[in-house]
Amino acid sequence: MMQEINSSQQAIDLEDKFGAHNYQPLPVVLSRGEGVYLWDVEGKKYFDFLSAYSAVNQGHCHPRIKDALIEQAGTLTLTSRAFYNDVLGPYEKYITEYFGFDKVLPMNTGVEAVETAIKIARKWGYEEKGVPENEGIIIVAENNFHGRTTTVISFSDDENARRNFGPFTAGFISIPYNDLNALQKAFEKNPHVVAFLVEPIQGEAGVITPDEDYIRKASLICKTHNALLLADEIQTGIARTGSLLAVCGNCNCEGHCEKQDTYTRPDILILGKALSGGFLPVSAVLADDAVMNVIQPGQHGSTYGGNPLGVKVAMTALEVVRDEKMAQNARKLGKIFRERMQLLVERSPLVSTVRGKGLLNAIVINDRPDSATAWEICISLKENGLLAKPTHGNIIRFAPPLVMTEEELHSCCDIIEKTILNFK
Ligand SMILES: *Cc1c(COP(=O)(O)O)cnc(C)c1O
Repeated sequence: MMQEINSSQQAIDLEDKFGAHNYQPLPVVLSRGEGVYLWDVEGKKYFDFLSAYSAVNQGHCHPRIKDALIEQAGTLTLTSRAFYNDVLGPYEKYITEYFGFDKVLPMNTGVEAVETAIKIARKWGYEEKGVPENEGIIIVAENNFHGRTTTVISFSDDENARRNFGPFTAGFISIPYNDLNALQKAFEKNPHVVAFLVEPIQGEAGVITPDEDYIRKASLICKTHNALLLADEIQTGIARTGSLLAVCGNCNCEGHCEKQDTYTRPDILILGKALSGGFLPVSAVLADDAVMNVIQPGQHGSTYGGNPLGVKVAMTALEVVRDEKMAQNARKLGKIFRERMQLLVERSPLVSTVRGKGLLNAIVINDRPDSATAWEICISLKENGLLAKPTHGNIIRFAPPLVMTEEELHSCCDIIEKTILNFK
């Protein structure tokens, strides 16, 4: 029988003794979530300012997604792709129309979708672009985060994430982020580039927002050199940055419109995290036929990919984002949040910058990157009822669920302000 948990310390001790130590969590043990709120084992209530790394954009335990999950769980959960099922087709039609692509390849976790995009891009390079076999190059950006598999860490520059995991997968070259010159040069030096894989905003690197026209111009450079633009929107996508996708630019519409002046259309769009609103691992790779059709039966797959339960949840999670106008809310609240944090930057020597887009934001703590200050501030925020986590040492990311109200956001800003101004 499973051991009952009566105190936070008890749960922490169990994880410490029986779980691999591949994470270093903040010392809070959560037992319930609803909307923008989380509760710990002792019943203390918190504002969630991480949203499970933007997987719960729709808020915790969204009732509509929960109902869809429960209904489908009692009907059909998994058939494998050895057979057809009656939910996958409608989902594929829905998600491709929603994001404006011919086809989707369904996977589970984010990194699997990145791996899938890499495989498609390489195969496209050999079969459509005519690159000699095994010589395809994919350009990536420095300080990227695309997940944890052996191939994906092959082009990470986080030494801690790489050390003693080699040998690595070849065929990647890394250039500085937000540097179009470097991209141009990389293409000129390497005739066999098949793709550029990039995050429209670098989340894990500390919410690094590039120049307004970076992705649009990068896309033009890719087109000139007949290479694919692979947009990893696992963290930035699905309304987080104040539009449906970060590649929508500053488009103010609620859905997907492909307006010429703001939207940059990637050749491959990679989604995960909020695609299921925090219920199940559901990820997706979207592309047009000319690219996606390089994949034929037996060449790629996943037992759980496209399972009825996951795709029913994903369809509902996308409906909820649109119906509740979450992009619009993220856009509006994001502005207010950065305005309030800017006032804090001016008042506190401890905070040097606020940056971000929509409700994907970060503040930079004015201390050495290897100092414990950001961690200690997050501990104080927790004491004061708000949960956030440092990223890259001295940066604190702030990414609440997109169902937050303006009033709640102001309460959160009050907590952050009070915590930082009283921090010693
Ligand atoms: C989280 C994330 C991933 C990896 O997703 P997992 O579901 O953890 O495998 C990949 N790319 C980006 C940009 C992410 O934020």
